[in-house]
Amino acid sequence: MKCPNCHIDLQPKNDRGVAVNACPKCKGLWFTPAELDEFEDLAIDPEAKTGSLYIVDWPTQLQCPVCSAGLKRFEYRFFGLQIDCCPEHGFWLEANDDEKILSLMRQEAAALDRKFTAEQKWAKQLNHMRSPTFFGKLKSLFQR
Ligand SMILES: [Zn+2]
Ligand SMILES: [Zn+2]
Repeated sequence: MKCPNCHIDLQPKNDRGVAVNACPKCKGLWFTPAELDEFEDLAIDPEAKTGSLYIVDWPTQLQCPVCSAGLKRFEYRFFGLQIDCCPEHGFWLEANDDEKILSLMRQEAAALDRKFTAEQKWAKQLNHMRSPTFFGKLKSLFQR
């Protein structure tokens, strides 16, 4: 698999116990849906994961390392962190985005009021979605 930014081979990397693929040059990380779920579990109770993402359907210049389709951008948990993804294969995080995700999620876990608000917003905007899994939700957004 090639880095979407640098077009060099991604290398296997262990990020806090989760096996991902990383670019040695730009330090971007490629997560499959299962790997991102596993990564989220480091910071947050799986029960509380219902509001993980919100699509802002912007096409990017980047290509999926697996199928070369154009990656799409979504916003992570209402905190303005933007991640690129292929709806079939996974998620591309720029260098240090993994740190940002974990720290945002820890803040969220600590701030129950804000979490409740975020979940309500999520439910309001995406209340037609029924898929129980993180990746299922993502796919149904693309299929809308
Ligand atoms: Zn790179
Ligand atoms: Zn793909």
